[in-house]
Amino acid sequence: MLAQRTLKSLTKAVGVGLHSGQRVELTLRPAAPDTGIVFRRVDLPEPVDIPVHATAVSDTRLASTISSGGAKVHTIEHLMSACSGLGLDNLMVDITAEEVPILDGSSASFVYLLQSAGIVTQNAPKRFIRVTRPVEVREGEGRSLKWARLEPYHGYKLSFEIEFDHPAVNSTGQRVEFDLGSGNYSREIARARTFGFTKDVEMMRSRGLGLGASMDNAIVVDRYRVLNSDGLRYDDEFVKHKILDAIGDLYVIGHPLLASYTAFRSGHALNNQLLRALLEQPDAYEVVSFDDEKQAPRGMAELAPAW
Ligand SMILES: [Zn+2]
Repeated sequence: MLAQRTLKSLTKAVGVGLHSGQRVELTLRPAAPDTGIVFRRVDLPEPVDIPVHATAVSDTRLASTISSGGAKVHTIEHLMSACSGLGLDNLMVDITAEEVPILDGSSASFVYLLQSAGIVTQNAPKRFIRVTRPVEVREGEGRSLKWARLEPYHGYKLSFEIEFDHPAVNSTGQRVEFDLGSGNYSREIARARTFGFTKDVEMMRSRGLGLGASMDNAIVVDRYRVLNSDGLRYDDEFVKHKILDAIGDLYVIGHPLLASYTAFRSGHALNNQLLRALLEQPDAYEVVSFDDEKQAPRGMAELAPAW
Protein backbone atom coordinates (compact mmCIF):
# COMPACT_ATOMS: atom_id res chain seq x y z
CA MET A 1 0.00 0.00 0.00
CA LEU A 2 1.16 3.53 -0.73
CA ALA A 3 0.68 5.00 2.76
CA GLN A 4 0.02 8.43 4.24
CA ARG A 5 2.87 10.23 5.95
CA THR A 6 3.36 12.45 8.93
CA LEU A 7 6.26 13.73 11.02
CA LYS A 8 8.20 11.45 13.34
CA SER A 9 8.71 14.11 16.03
CA LEU A 10 7.83 17.75 16.53
CA THR A 11 9.96 20.65 15.38
CA LYS A 12 9.86 24.41 15.92
CA ALA A 13 10.73 27.55 14.00
CA VAL A 14 10.76 31.25 14.88
CA GLY A 15 10.69 34.10 12.40
CA VAL A 16 8.79 37.14 11.18
CA GLY A 17 5.79 37.42 8.87
CA LEU A 18 6.63 38.81 5.41
CA HIS A 19 3.60 41.08 5.34
CA SER A 20 2.86 41.70 9.05
CA GLY A 21 6.49 42.00 10.17
CA GLN A 22 5.29 40.29 13.36
CA ARG A 23 7.41 37.77 15.31
CA VAL A 24 5.86 34.31 15.17
CA GLU A 25 6.59 30.83 16.49
CA LEU A 26 5.62 27.66 14.63
CA THR A 27 5.44 24.18 16.11
CA LEU A 28 5.05 21.43 13.52
CA ARG A 29 3.63 18.24 15.06
CA PRO A 30 2.70 14.73 13.91
CA ALA A 31 -1.02 14.20 13.18
CA ALA A 32 -3.25 11.12 12.88
CA PRO A 33 -4.12 9.57 9.48
CA ASP A 34 -6.73 11.54 7.48
CA THR A 35 -6.16 14.72 9.53
CA GLY A 36 -4.69 16.59 6.59
CA ILE A 37 -2.84 19.80 7.39
CA VAL A 38 -4.39 21.84 10.19
CA PHE A 39 -3.21 25.25 11.44
CA ARG A 40 -3.98 25.96 15.10
CA ARG A 41 -3.95 29.58 16.33
CA VAL A 42 -2.58 28.97 19.83
CA ASP A 43 -2.30 32.70 20.65
CA LEU A 44 -6.08 33.24 20.77
CA PRO A 45 -7.96 33.03 24.11
CA GLU A 46 -9.42 29.73 22.87
CA PRO A 47 -7.20 27.93 20.32
CA VAL A 48 -8.87 27.78 16.89
CA ASP A 49 -8.20 25.04 14.34
CA ILE A 50 -8.13 26.01 10.66
CA PRO A 51 -8.07 22.90 8.47
CA VAL A 52 -6.48 23.52 5.08
CA HIS A 53 -8.97 23.15 2.25
CA ALA A 54 -9.53 24.86 -1.10
CA THR A 55 -12.67 26.57 0.22
CA ALA A 56 -10.89 27.77 3.41
CA VAL A 57 -8.77 30.13 1.26
CA SER A 58 -10.27 33.55 1.93
CA ASP A 59 -7.77 36.08 0.59
CA THR A 60 -5.20 35.82 -2.18
CA ARG A 61 -3.71 39.32 -2.35
CA LEU A 62 0.06 38.68 -2.58
CA ALA A 63 -0.22 35.54 -0.42
CA SER A 64 -2.67 32.75 0.38
CA THR A 65 -4.74 33.20 3.54
CA ILE A 66 -6.97 30.57 5.13
CA SER A 67 -9.75 31.28 7.61
CA SER A 68 -12.13 29.49 9.90
CA GLY A 69 -14.63 31.35 12.06
CA GLY A 70 -12.93 34.72 12.58
CA ALA A 71 -9.43 33.22 12.77
CA LYS A 72 -6.91 33.54 9.93
CA VAL A 73 -3.45 32.44 8.91
CA HIS A 74 -1.70 34.35 6.11
CA THR A 75 1.09 33.28 3.74
CA ILE A 76 0.69 29.52 4.04
CA GLU A 77 1.95 28.72 0.53
CA HIS A 78 5.67 28.09 1.12
CA LEU A 79 5.06 25.69 4.02
CA MET A 80 2.32 23.98 1.96
CA SER A 81 4.75 23.71 -0.95
CA ALA A 82 7.36 21.99 1.27
CA CYS A 83 4.70 19.54 2.55
CA SER A 84 3.68 18.72 -1.02
CA GLY A 85 7.29 18.39 -2.17
CA LEU A 86 8.01 15.91 0.64
CA GLY A 87 4.73 14.01 0.25
CA LEU A 88 3.58 14.85 3.79
CA ASP A 89 -0.18 14.22 4.28
CA ASN A 90 -0.89 14.91 7.95
CA LEU A 91 0.49 17.74 10.07
CA MET A 92 -0.55 20.00 12.94
CA VAL A 93 0.88 23.51 12.73
CA ASP A 94 0.63 25.45 16.00
CA ILE A 95 1.15 29.15 15.27
CA THR A 96 1.38 32.13 17.64
CA ALA A 97 0.35 34.91 15.22
CA GLU A 98 -1.67 35.31 12.04
CA GLU A 99 1.15 34.85 9.53
CA VAL A 100 3.53 31.97 8.80
CA PRO A 101 7.16 33.14 9.19
CA ILE A 102 8.85 33.93 5.88
CA LEU A 103 12.26 32.57 7.03
CA ASP A 104 14.57 32.89 3.97
CA GLY A 105 11.73 33.58 1.49
CA SER A 106 11.82 30.09 -0.04
CA SER A 107 10.59 26.69 1.18
CA ALA A 108 14.11 25.34 1.80
CA SER A 109 13.99 26.09 5.55
CA PHE A 110 10.67 24.26 5.87
CA VAL A 111 12.05 21.29 3.92
CA TYR A 112 15.05 21.22 6.23
CA LEU A 113 12.86 21.42 9.37
CA LEU A 114 10.49 18.70 8.21
CA GLN A 115 13.27 16.39 7.11
CA SER A 116 15.16 16.94 10.38
CA ALA A 117 12.04 15.98 12.37
CA GLY A 118 11.80 12.86 10.21
CA ILE A 119 8.94 11.59 8.05
CA VAL A 120 7.15 8.32 8.81
CA THR A 121 4.49 6.29 7.01
CA GLN A 122 1.13 5.63 8.65
CA ASN A 123 -1.27 2.73 8.49
CA ALA A 124 -3.71 4.33 6.05
CA PRO A 125 -3.73 4.59 2.25
CA LYS A 126 -2.53 7.86 0.75
CA ARG A 127 -5.35 9.42 -1.26
CA PHE A 128 -4.71 11.32 -4.46
CA ILE A 129 -7.03 13.52 -6.49
CA ARG A 130 -6.73 12.25 -10.05
CA VAL A 131 -7.87 14.71 -12.70
CA THR A 132 -9.92 12.88 -15.34
CA ARG A 133 -10.64 15.66 -17.81
CA PRO A 134 -9.21 19.14 -18.49
CA VAL A 135 -10.30 22.08 -16.34
CA GLU A 136 -9.17 25.63 -17.11
CA VAL A 137 -9.65 29.11 -15.66
CA ARG A 138 -8.84 32.39 -17.44
CA GLU A 139 -8.69 36.03 -16.52
CA GLY A 140 -8.20 39.20 -18.61
CA GLU A 141 -7.39 39.57 -22.29
CA GLY A 142 -4.48 40.58 -24.49
CA ARG A 143 -1.55 41.78 -22.39
CA SER A 144 -3.37 41.14 -19.12
CA LEU A 145 -4.32 37.54 -20.00
CA LYS A 146 -3.63 34.89 -17.34
CA TRP A 147 -4.69 31.26 -17.31
CA ALA A 148 -4.17 27.99 -15.48
CA ARG A 149 -5.17 24.48 -16.50
CA LEU A 150 -5.24 20.95 -15.09
CA GLU A 151 -5.20 17.94 -17.39
CA PRO A 152 -5.06 14.17 -16.87
CA TYR A 153 -1.54 12.81 -16.30
CA HIS A 154 -0.24 9.67 -14.55
CA GLY A 155 1.97 11.62 -12.15
CA TYR A 156 2.21 15.25 -11.16
CA LYS A 157 4.00 17.75 -13.33
CA LEU A 158 3.87 21.51 -13.59
CA SER A 159 4.74 23.98 -16.32
CA PHE A 160 4.74 27.69 -15.60
CA GLU A 161 5.42 30.72 -17.75
CA ILE A 162 5.82 34.29 -16.55
CA GLU A 163 6.08 37.38 -18.72
CA PHE A 164 7.88 40.13 -16.84
CA ASP A 165 9.10 42.78 -19.21
CA HIS A 166 11.95 43.80 -16.94
CA PRO A 167 15.69 43.83 -17.68
CA ALA A 168 16.57 41.74 -14.59
CA VAL A 169 13.97 39.09 -15.40
CA ASN A 170 14.30 39.10 -19.22
CA SER A 171 17.81 37.80 -18.92
CA THR A 172 16.60 34.74 -16.96
CA GLY A 173 14.31 31.89 -18.02
CA GLN A 174 10.63 32.82 -18.00
CA ARG A 175 9.31 29.29 -18.41
CA VAL A 176 10.02 26.15 -16.40
CA GLU A 177 8.72 22.60 -16.24
CA PHE A 178 9.02 20.40 -13.21
CA ASP A 179 7.93 16.82 -12.50
CA LEU A 180 7.35 16.15 -8.81
CA GLY A 181 8.03 12.45 -9.39
CA SER A 182 11.63 13.32 -10.29
CA GLY A 183 12.47 13.53 -6.57
CA ASN A 184 14.31 16.81 -7.18
CA TYR A 185 11.97 19.23 -5.35
CA SER A 186 14.46 20.01 -2.56
CA ARG A 187 17.32 20.62 -4.94
CA GLU A 188 15.65 22.26 -7.94
CA ILE A 189 12.66 24.18 -6.55
CA ALA A 190 12.77 24.64 -2.76
CA ARG A 191 15.55 27.24 -2.72
CA ALA A 192 13.78 29.73 -5.04
CA ARG A 193 12.96 32.89 -3.09
CA THR A 194 10.03 35.23 -3.31
CA PHE A 195 10.77 38.49 -5.15
CA GLY A 196 9.64 42.08 -5.11
CA PHE A 197 10.20 45.28 -7.07
CA THR A 198 11.30 48.43 -5.23
CA LYS A 199 8.66 50.43 -7.15
CA ASP A 200 5.94 48.31 -5.47
CA VAL A 201 7.32 48.60 -1.94
CA GLU A 202 5.73 51.96 -1.17
CA MET A 203 2.33 50.83 -2.45
CA MET A 204 2.55 47.61 -0.42
CA ARG A 205 3.62 49.34 2.78
CA SER A 206 0.77 51.86 2.47
CA ARG A 207 -1.59 48.86 2.47
CA GLY A 208 0.17 47.37 5.51
CA LEU A 209 1.84 44.64 3.44
CA GLY A 210 5.48 43.64 3.03
CA LEU A 211 6.40 45.06 6.45
CA GLY A 212 8.75 42.13 7.20
CA ALA A 213 10.37 42.05 3.76
CA SER A 214 14.13 42.51 3.42
CA MET A 215 17.01 41.27 1.32
CA ASP A 216 17.36 38.43 3.87
CA ASN A 217 14.03 36.95 2.76
CA ALA A 218 13.37 38.19 -0.78
CA ILE A 219 15.02 38.94 -4.09
CA VAL A 220 14.74 42.72 -4.41
CA VAL A 221 14.76 44.21 -7.89
CA ASP A 222 14.96 47.91 -8.84
CA ARG A 223 14.26 49.27 -12.33
CA TYR A 224 17.30 47.57 -13.80
CA ARG A 225 18.80 44.83 -11.67
CA VAL A 226 18.78 42.46 -8.70
CA LEU A 227 19.98 44.37 -5.62
CA ASN A 228 20.92 41.35 -3.43
CA SER A 229 24.71 41.31 -3.27
CA ASP A 230 24.94 37.54 -3.70
CA GLY A 231 22.69 37.51 -6.78
CA LEU A 232 20.33 34.67 -7.69
CA ARG A 233 20.31 31.10 -6.35
CA TYR A 234 19.16 29.67 -9.70
CA ASP A 235 19.51 31.30 -13.13
CA ASP A 236 15.71 31.12 -13.44
CA GLU A 237 14.88 31.75 -9.77
CA PHE A 238 11.89 34.04 -10.52
CA VAL A 239 9.84 31.49 -12.48
CA LYS A 240 11.01 28.69 -10.17
CA HIS A 241 9.50 30.59 -7.25
CA LYS A 242 6.21 30.78 -9.16
CA ILE A 243 6.27 26.96 -9.50
CA LEU A 244 7.08 26.69 -5.77
CA ASP A 245 4.05 28.90 -5.02
CA ALA A 246 1.80 26.93 -7.39
CA ILE A 247 2.78 23.64 -5.70
CA GLY A 248 1.76 25.19 -2.35
CA ASP A 249 -1.41 26.81 -3.71
CA LEU A 250 -2.59 23.55 -5.27
CA TYR A 251 -1.85 21.47 -2.16
CA VAL A 252 -4.60 23.29 -0.24
CA ILE A 253 -7.01 20.90 -2.01
CA GLY A 254 -6.02 18.49 0.79
CA HIS A 255 -4.52 15.67 -1.29
CA PRO A 256 -1.70 15.36 -3.79
CA LEU A 257 -2.88 15.80 -7.37
CA LEU A 258 -2.33 13.38 -10.21
CA ALA A 259 -2.43 15.88 -13.03
CA SER A 260 -0.49 18.05 -15.41
CA TYR A 261 -0.72 21.73 -14.40
CA THR A 262 0.08 24.40 -16.97
CA ALA A 263 -0.09 28.10 -16.21
CA PHE A 264 0.60 31.43 -17.85
CA ARG A 265 1.08 34.40 -15.49
CA SER A 266 -1.08 32.72 -12.85
CA GLY A 267 -0.94 33.56 -9.14
CA HIS A 268 -2.48 32.65 -5.80
CA ALA A 269 -5.97 33.87 -6.77
CA LEU A 270 -6.21 32.06 -10.10
CA ASN A 271 -4.62 28.89 -8.68
CA ASN A 272 -7.34 28.82 -6.03
CA GLN A 273 -10.06 29.46 -8.63
CA LEU A 274 -8.70 26.51 -10.59
CA LEU A 275 -9.10 24.21 -7.57
CA ARG A 276 -12.62 25.45 -6.94
CA ALA A 277 -13.50 24.96 -10.62
CA LEU A 278 -12.21 21.37 -10.37
CA LEU A 279 -14.17 20.64 -7.18
CA GLU A 280 -17.36 22.05 -8.72
CA GLN A 281 -17.16 19.40 -11.45
CA PRO A 282 -17.31 15.99 -9.74
CA ASP A 283 -16.92 14.26 -13.13
CA ALA A 284 -13.54 15.97 -13.65
CA TYR A 285 -11.71 14.10 -10.86
CA GLU A 286 -11.71 11.00 -8.69
CA VAL A 287 -10.07 10.14 -5.38
CA VAL A 288 -7.71 7.18 -5.76
CA SER A 289 -5.25 5.20 -3.66
CA PHE A 290 -2.75 2.48 -4.55
CA ASP A 291 -2.88 -0.93 -2.83
CA ASP A 292 0.27 -1.81 -4.74
CA GLU A 293 2.98 0.86 -4.68
CA LYS A 294 4.14 -0.36 -8.08
CA GLN A 295 0.88 0.91 -9.63
CA ALA A 296 1.60 4.46 -8.39
CA PRO A 297 3.24 6.94 -10.76
CA ARG A 298 7.00 7.04 -10.84
CA GLY A 299 8.55 8.70 -7.81
CA MET A 300 5.35 9.00 -5.75
CA ALA A 301 6.30 6.19 -3.34
CA GLU A 302 9.63 7.76 -2.43
CA LEU A 303 8.89 11.48 -2.27
CA ALA A 304 11.23 12.56 0.49
CA PRO A 305 14.56 12.76 -1.21
CA ALA A 306 17.76 13.56 0.59
CA TRP A 307 19.43 16.87 -0.19
ZN1 LIG B 1 5.85 32.76 -2.74
